[in-house]
Amino acid sequence: MERDTNLAEVAKLNFDVENIRKDFPILNRSIKGKPLVYLDNAATTQKPKSVIERTSTYYLNENSNIHRGVHTLSQLATEYYENSRSIIKKFLNASSNEEIIFTRGTTESINLIANTFGRKFIKEGDEIIISHMEHHSNIVPWQILCEERGAILKVAPINEHGELLIDEFERLITSKTKLVSLIHASNTLGTINLIKKITEISHSHGIPVLVDGAQAVSHIPIDMQDLDCDFYAFSGHKVYGPTGIGVLFGKKNLLDELPPYQGGGDMIRSVTFEKTTYNDLPFKFEAGTPNIVGAIGLGEALSYVSKVGVETIALYEQELLNYATKVLSEINELKIIGTALEKTSIISFVLKDIHPHDVGTILDNEGIAVRTGHHCTQPLMKRFNIPATTRASFAFYNTKKEIDMLSEAIKKVIKVFS
Ligand code: PLP
Repeated sequence: MERDTNLAEVAKLNFDVENIRKDFPILNRSIKGKPLVYLDNAATTQKPKSVIERTSTYYLNENSNIHRGVHTLSQLATEYYENSRSIIKKFLNASSNEEIIFTRGTTESINLIANTFGRKFIKEGDEIIISHMEHHSNIVPWQILCEERGAILKVAPINEHGELLIDEFERLITSKTKLVSLIHASNTLGTINLIKKITEISHSHGIPVLVDGAQAVSHIPIDMQDLDCDFYAFSGHKVYGPTGIGVLFGKKNLLDELPPYQGGGDMIRSVTFEKTTYNDLPFKFEAGTPNIVGAIGLGEALSYVSKVGVETIALYEQELLNYATKVLSEINELKIIGTALEKTSIISFVLKDIHPHDVGTILDNEGIAVRTGHHCTQPLMKRFNIPATTRASFAFYNTKKEIDMLSEAIKKVIKVFS
């Protein structure tokens, strides 16, 4: 399948990948005597120096707990933490800081909604719609909820390319549908879903939409007011920030209606043994001491991404995707799984009957890091009738030369097994 090449546009971008690579110290290391070729960015991204330095400065100079102290360090830590929230609000084009909740990551953000929205609005016989390409994080929380409530989980089908069948999705909607929860970009196939259209359809039936943005935020421009979804979840570590920090965006009017998620410090306004009243947004959903340094590091990461430019990143990564698709398609034994027209820079593939774990092991001996397995999408593997894939996922610090090295290493694998 052909995609437009953007060579001329990329050339115009003034984007120098070799300069970018200097910002990521880990890319200089070697693995098993070979230069590291890191193509496991969908699992987690590497961190730029600015993020590493920002987090170390915090512990060297600024460490303190937030929101509670009158002393200087506590006030500074609070300021940096809340400043990060402002950076995220701007990055997502949310309407206010109250709509930005810090969580541990995408998984916790989705569980937060399953627990709070679920407790308040999901009753016996109600329906929740997801799709066939969801990550387990956007399947299991809804299964747990449906089991508890006697609700029904419906699954929107996809076609052979790995594209959501929007008409089929719409046909699943009934008067019992209470929530649509969909992945923005598939971690296994790369497919980018038409979230704006899905939101329009769902809203025309009065149904709120949650979006799992774990694989979208680092690749394409994200605008909450344009997408108009009700909830949006993502993880810091997949967008060049630290692990253990993530975000739940929620529209203020909806978050206001939801009960708290966890109880403890910071989420309260006042406590007596008779009755507790809850804090305002966003603190109502941030019980206990949060991952302060993680939040600050995430703010730094998004500032870095904004400086490079999300549009620039998207264009360059599309160029990498086009090149990798072309180069890998030339290998007869290789079949790409996931050939949607709109894709992020992910290529999942199978190599005849060679098990992906063997592929991954041989590639590792060449210094090439890829992911092999079901990628937390077992139902999707079943849909394509395969046990696992090898997945190469590219970031804007990857190069065409690295794609050539991947291609050569895959040919070596084929030779070993022939
Ligand atoms: N959703 C998608 C699409 C993902 O790719 C991932 C992680 O791979 C997750 C959810 C879960 O993210 P985390 O483990 O950071 O919570």
